[in-house]
Amino acid sequence: MKIICIGRNYHAHIKELGNEVPAEPVFFIKPDTSLQVRNRPFYYPEFSSDIHYEAELVLKICKVGKNIQPQFAGTYYDKVGIGIDFTARDIQDRAKKAGLPWFTAKGFDHSAPVSTFLPKSDFTDPKKISFSLLLNGIVVQQGNTSLMIHSFDDIIVQASRFVTLRTGDLIFTGTPAGVGPVKIGDVLEGSIEEKLMLKCEIK
Ligand code: MG
Repeated sequence: MKIICIGRNYHAHIKELGNEVPAEPVFFIKPDTSLQVRNRPFYYPEFSSDIHYEAELVLKICKVGKNIQPQFAGTYYDKVGIGIDFTARDIQDRAKKAGLPWFTAKGFDHSAPVSTFLPKSDFTDPKKISFSLLLNGIVVQQGNTSLMIHSFDDIIVQASRFVTLRTGDLIFTGTPAGVGPVKIGDVLEGSIEEKLMLKCEIK
């Protein structure tokens, strides 16, 4: 399986990092070794001193597709969860300045903790799903899919122009404003529509 991620999908987050609104979606991939499940802790890696959390809704792909047409895009995912796109911001900043890929900043081991999933049918409107992230009990990120630049369906259409989506693939759909650093001892908790879904302790 692969983990496809979209960057710069919420205006307020683009602004907080001083980036430009991209004309086309910015995609990157995390390898399967980045996946972390069952609320296992995240071990702070030695190669970075500025690991940031980015809470994102995550789609689970339920059938194979390529060049998916907009009217069918919604049938290619059947579950929604929440994940953290852990980012080595120091490495990413160096890569951005040098025009180099983000792979080591984004794709390192366990950089993608993901919750269990809720069936898509639990949501009346995928364009109005709220989610939030707490850091040590304090809300640091609040998102709503109504604020996305590219909707779930758009992301599926655009990503599948380039890569075949397969059953079990995950798509991280972008982070709202409020990203920030973590330190050892911190606890992150991710909720969808007020339902606690994900817990991640930094060790
Ligand atoms: Mg992200």
